This record gives sequence, structure tokens and C-alpha cells, in this order.
Amino acid sequence: MLGKMMTQPLTISSLIEHAGKYHAGTVVTSVETTGEVSHSTWGTVARNARRLAQALERLGIDQGARCGTIAWNNRRHLEIYFGVAGAGFVCHTLNPRLKAEQLIYILNHAEDEVLFIDATFVPAVAQLRAHLPKLRHVVLMGPESPEAAAQIEGLLFYDNLLEAETGDYSWPALDENTPSSLCYTSGTTGHPKGVLYTHRSTVLHSLGGNQPDGLALAARDSVMAVVPMFHVNAWGVPYITAAVGAKLVLPGPKLDGESLVKLIDAEEVTIALGVPTIWMGLLQALKTTGSKIPSLERTVVGGSALPTVMIPTFRDTYGVDLIHAWGMTETSPLGTLNQLLQKHAHLSDAEKGKIREGQGRPPYGVDLRLIGADGSVLPHDGKTQGDLQIRGHWIIDTYFGGEQPALTEDGWFDTGDVATIDADGYMIIRDRSKDIIKSGGEWISTVELEDIAMSHPKVAQAAAIAARHSKWDERPVLVVVKSDDSLTEVELLKHYDGRVASWQIPDAVVFVEALPLGGTGKVQKNKLRESYGDMLL
Ligand code: AMP
Repeated sequence: MLGKMMTQPLTISSLIEHAGKYHAGTVVTSVETTGEVSHSTWGTVARNARRLAQALERLGIDQGARCGTIAWNNRRHLEIYFGVAGAGFVCHTLNPRLKAEQLIYILNHAEDEVLFIDATFVPAVAQLRAHLPKLRHVVLMGPESPEAAAQIEGLLFYDNLLEAETGDYSWPALDENTPSSLCYTSGTTGHPKGVLYTHRSTVLHSLGGNQPDGLALAARDSVMAVVPMFHVNAWGVPYITAAVGAKLVLPGPKLDGESLVKLIDAEEVTIALGVPTIWMGLLQALKTTGSKIPSLERTVVGGSALPTVMIPTFRDTYGVDLIHAWGMTETSPLGTLNQLLQKHAHLSDAEKGKIREGQGRPPYGVDLRLIGADGSVLPHDGKTQGDLQIRGHWIIDTYFGGEQPALTEDGWFDTGDVATIDADGYMIIRDRSKDIIKSGGEWISTVELEDIAMSHPKVAQAAAIAARHSKWDERPVLVVVKSDDSLTEVELLKHYDGRVASWQIPDAVVFVEALPLGGTGKVQKNKLRESYGDMLL
């Protein structure tokens, strides 16, 4: 016998319909590519999403077709998220920082039929156009521009497309397992791989990831998504803010500290989300601008390991609670978030801060385990280190275009991260399995070495890598960008005394002008290993 309750498919159109109906007047702030700050509302975004759906149908795009975006975080991009997916197409966000060959590979692999672009990218896309045989339409995300039209043949204009439509449109009743969006992994080795999210996985991620111990975004919040909309759907923030009707602030192309401070103050941002490098820039700008960002209550930091000094700085100087989160493109991305338990209530700030340095606990909806080198399931004792595996409602099954599931035989996804988990479920990433250093048979965590380097006041950025060694196999080498020219190797290595065991202290420090960064702002350690991996031989 089946139960007797309504069943409704979990669709992305239901999120935007809710925002448009119950939060129509709530503001969506958008910094346009021109630098202009514009204010819209969820009501307008919902209507424009419906008009876009009408326009796409009028263009005769096939159901399930991929519609790419090369764009910053702004209002039109938000409408595309909902209009494209809601109408049964797939919103495929591309990282504009990729090289031309990578963009061509990804656009052709995904067979995008439509490509929405911000004005910034007109010259770049004009160069790519001839290499994209499946692409039918390029749409400039803005008003008509003769200058842009001269560069790309047949260029369409977003504002014109929408002006021709009424918004009087009913979303199609889609199966909740219909694909809704597509995002390619950064792919440091081999070609990037596509993760094809479904309406169902996206809605469940929004509900599961936004629980009180998750992001906890609410209608009373002003939420700034600094995390790019091309990086794992901006961690789900567009969908979650629609579901809860929060004010949403989309900061456009300029993500330097000073621009963000201004926007936080002007838009009374209460919570902001982004990668650690963004917050380092913000802290720097706060020193120079003198703002105390009084509205900001919380920041969510993830995407790479958090420099732990940021926790007390945000807390003590600005009264901002820093929430550390972990995830991947393959996990939608929210896998863990760090919030405290009731039993921690009476700990000191320093003790609480210590717990919050780790990546946190899984929300309901995902499950974690650790696997040893022999394939055995390892204990959650906070000490035993193993390969981190995950399963759940918003975790990948098979890569886009792949034949075989990307899972273990018993249905778990191997993250490629090495971690510990304690008895309360607090997970700590110790390393990427391909980055970890194995010296004389013992593991050394590059994450820990980098964190110690970053706590030195004269260090701006640091990366630890394994360098080949004739006696120990591998030894740690630190590659550092100074924030103060007077820093020496001896001074920096002295900083490790008492912080790690003596055999874990790096053998050498290389000072560089800048670290090589990938498209999402992560240090490309493979490049560093190519440059410095043999320096100890
Ligand atoms: P991506 O799919 O590009 O978002 O990369 C996912 C990878 O980023 C993870 O497998 C981790 O190695 C790393 N990562 C994400 N969040 C964190 C975090 N909070 N701490 C350490 N590493 C992280």
C-alpha cells in the first residue's frame, strides 16, 4: 500500500515561483559589468526568468539542450539560472578564467546550443566562435550594442529577447530527475569532467545544506555570493536565497577587498560566502578603509583550506563568525559545515575556535566514511587518517557523457581527499591524496605546513609541496609569497619550532612573486612540483 499524500516533483521552477510569489518585493542587488549597481527584486527576477523561458522556446531549442554562460555574478545570470533550468534546458556555467582551448573543449564536449556572455567576454568569444560547430546562438547579457554585434555574427541581445515576451508562461511539469545544470571540474590532470546536477539533487541540496547547522540563510539576511556563479552553482546560494526569500547581493566582476567592503556597507550584508583568498583581501582592505563592517554577522569560507588565523581576526576585531565548509563540484558542493554542538557552549572562545578550524560535520542528506590503504573502513576517532568517501542525495553518480558510475562497488564516491573524522563527526581535511608528503614512510600534511606559514605576519601566501629526496623519498619544501621583504628562510623555518615535530619542518623555502593559481583560485601544486620537485636531489 502507498501513503496518501501529495507528491510534487522537486523542481527549480518551484523555487523561483515561491520567491516570486512570497518574496516579490525583496531586493536583488547586482553590480553590472559596467560597474553600475542596480537594484531589482525577486518578483522581477521571477518574471524575467519566465520571459527568458518563452524566448528560448521561441528560438526552437531542443528539450535538455545545454545553454552555456560565461558571466560574472549579476542579475541576468541569476535569471538564466532559473529560466534555463525551469524550462527544461540545462544551465552550463563556464569558468571565464580557463584558457581558450579548455573553453572550446568544454563547450564542444557539452554540445552547448546557446551561449550567454557578459560584455567583458565578447572579444574572447569572437575568437572561439569558429571552433564551436554545435553552437546556434550567442546572447549578449545586456542591451543592444552595435559594437558587440560587429564582433560576433548573429549576436542576440538578452534585453531584446526579454522585451519581446510577456512573462505569461507556465513552467513545464518536469520529472525531478531531469538535468538542471552542468559544471565541469577544474581537472588538474587530464580533461575536465562534467557534473550534471538534477532538479531533485539541487532542491535537496538547498534544503539539506541550509539547515540551522548548515548555511542557515534566512529571509532576514542580506546574502552576498562572492563565490562565482560558475563555481559549483555559487555553492547553491541562488537556489537557497530564492527558497528562503533572502536579499541577494551579486558583486559582479570586481572582487577586490575595497569593492567588497563598500558593497557590504551599502547593502547591509549580513552573510557573505567565498574562498579564503577573498577574505584575505577583505581583511587587508578593512585595515586601510577603516570600516568595521558592522552589518556582517557571518562568513562562509570553503573551496580550499582556511588559514586558521582568520578565525580570531574576524571574531575579535569585527565580531564576524566564520563558518568553515568543505565540498567539491561532485558534491553540489556542500559536504560538511562547521558549527558547534550544545556540549561546547561553555568552552572558551579559543577552545571553540580550535574546533571550528576543521571542515565540520555532514548535514542530514550526506554520509562520510574513511577508507584505509587495504580497503578497510577506518574508525572515526579523530586520529586515524584515510581516504574520504561520501554518498548522499546530492552526490555525483556518473560524470556527464560517462558510461560507468564514478563510484566504488558499494556505492560511495571517493573524494581524493585524505581526512580524519572524530566521534562527533567533525571532519578535518589533512591533504589531497596527490599532494600529501610521504617522508621516510611517515605522512606530512601540506595543509598544516601551509597554515603555520600563513600565521607568520610576513607571509602573504604559502604552498607546501613534496620534493624528491635521495634518503627520505620525499621532503617538504615551502613556496612562499612574502608580505614583508625582510622575511628570511631562517626566520620562517624558526616559526615551525614547537608547532610541528622537528622532522616535519620543511627542508627549504623558495620565495616567489606569485603562486600559480587555477581557474577557481586554487594553487596549482602540480606546476610547483614541476618547478621545485627536484631541488633537493
Ligand atoms: P572543486 O571541485 O574545484 O571545488 O575542488 C574540490 C576540492 O577542493 C576538494 O576535494 C578539496 O581538496 C578542496 N577543498 C574544498 N573545500 C576545502 C576546505 N574547506 N578545506 C580544504 N580543502 C578544501
